[in-house]
Amino acid sequence: MAKILVTGGAGFLGSHLCERLLDADHDVLCVDNYFTGSKRNIEHLLQNPRFEVMRHDVTFPLYVEVDQIYNLACPASPVHYQFDPVQTTKTSVHGAINMLGLAKRVKARILQASTSEVYGDPEVHPQPESYWGRVNTIGIRSCYDEGKRCAETLFFDYWRQHKLEIKVMRIFNTYGPRMHPSDGRVVSNFIVQALKGEPITIYGEGSQTRSFCYVDDLIEGMIRLMNTPADFTGPVNIGNPGEFTMLQLAERVIALTGSKSELVFHPLPQDDPKQRRPDISLAREVLDWEPTIALDQGLQKTIDYFRKVVKA
Ligand code: NAD
Ligand code: UDP
Ligand code: UDP
Repeated sequence: MAKILVTGGAGFLGSHLCERLLDADHDVLCVDNYFTGSKRNIEHLLQNPRFEVMRHDVTFPLYVEVDQIYNLACPASPVHYQFDPVQTTKTSVHGAINMLGLAKRVKARILQASTSEVYGDPEVHPQPESYWGRVNTIGIRSCYDEGKRCAETLFFDYWRQHKLEIKVMRIFNTYGPRMHPSDGRVVSNFIVQALKGEPITIYGEGSQTRSFCYVDDLIEGMIRLMNTPADFTGPVNIGNPGEFTMLQLAERVIALTGSKSELVFHPLPQDDPKQRRPDISLAREVLDWEPTIALDQGLQKTIDYFRKVVKA
């Protein structure tokens, strides 16, 4: 079995990944600075002797011995990545350099959690991996988008220059249990608001679209990508092509929670992408992967989770 490093392992996706890797009998080293993650996300794993946790910020060098690296460390919600935007860019760029340097020294295979945000506010719809994107370099989302774009560049240059085994995954909006209740992302916001009977906050007119993937599907795709043949680098889109407007999402959340919450409209944040939907042909072909959990089904599981953590 492999010794696997998961950076950002105490976060939403990272904690699910650690769990799945431990279930497959791997040794897992979780590295996190707890900026947006929490010990609560991983406390159920602490009894496992193959699980180890280290508080560490990936913008600083890290010397450990591992076989594989999943680089997930980075705040993902606009509210959090805009809180300290300089640190966000540093996390993506310096974090990538350090993890790539580590991968080079120990000859580990390394996967980067990139994002659909590399496509910016896209003019090509749905987005295939070949689309170069439309990102504002100087806007409030740029710290995240450009940081992730630069990390992709670093991954491909370490691959070309140092022959590293890299895998680049472009993750589209993912939701599920262990999203932080005050994370600020739309699915957690709407569910928490609905359960508390508070107004549901629609930004803009709510006509912008996103495609929502349930976390279990996403993690399955991530592990399949890591285990593809050495000559396959990606980038690969992983997401659910089911596309919904924010008004449709609000309507589904209200129906599934039975909430009496009303809708309120807030200004649309700057540079908010108008549409987003993955073309997953490549994932289907190379990973034999596609999502299996429909929006209503995934929302129900997420609502069940939030009922336990949110007090009305
Ligand atoms: P999250 O905020 O729950 O998790 C990120 C984790 O990284 C947290 O535990 C946080 O404390 C940690 N972290 C942040 N900066 C760090 C640093 N400098 N050093 C060490 N740890 C640090 O977010 P998530 O949804 O789990 O996202 C995980 C990864 O997937 C991120 O890289 C994100 O960009 C990417 N991604 C997620 C989505 C999504 O919809 N969830 C979409 C696209 C990409
Ligand atoms: N690095 C690390 N752990 C290691 C090896 C390297 O964190 O096990 C960091 C190191 O601090 C360096 C970065 O990764 O700044 C890039 O390493 P690389 O060997 O590619 O470049 P160099 O050391 O020449 O800058
Ligand atoms: N959004 C919304 N209400 C909220 C939070 C978000 O209408 O309470 C909108 C937001 O403007 C965006 C979409 O939902 O158009 C998805 O936002 P999120 O922050 O979840 O992800 P991202 O914009 O990074 O895709």
